Amino acid sequence: MHEISVAAALMRRVLAEKEARKLERISQIVLQIGPMSGIMPDALQFAYDSLREGTQLEGTELVIHSAELTTCCRHCLHLFDSRLMHTRCPRCGSEELQIMGGDEFFIQYLVTEKV
Ligand SMILES: [Zn+2]
Repeated sequence: MHEISVAAALMRRVLAEKEARKLERISQIVLQIGPMSGIMPDALQFAYDSLREGTQLEGTELVIHSAELTTCCRHCLHLFDSRLMHTRCPRCGSEELQIMGGDEFFIQYLVTEKV
């Protein structure tokens, strides 16, 4: 399962950050994942929950925010939510549409606590 290695890499990055910024305790890791990133949020959550046992991140919760897809009209540059499933631009009617974003996978922020 690919999410196990993603979770392990994520934890290494967070621990390196914890070390570098001398953070005492991280209560939450907030991630942004797009639907086109190839990562299944549920599987990642499960992998993380099983890997964190016994590590410095044992009490750290993983919070996953799903990013949205945006469609851009190449004719008038109007941006709209891809979930609306338009095949034409709602503003100018052009069919030259491009889907943007959705492949993001990054740590949005860490919630830290002083002990
Ligand atoms: Zn348009």
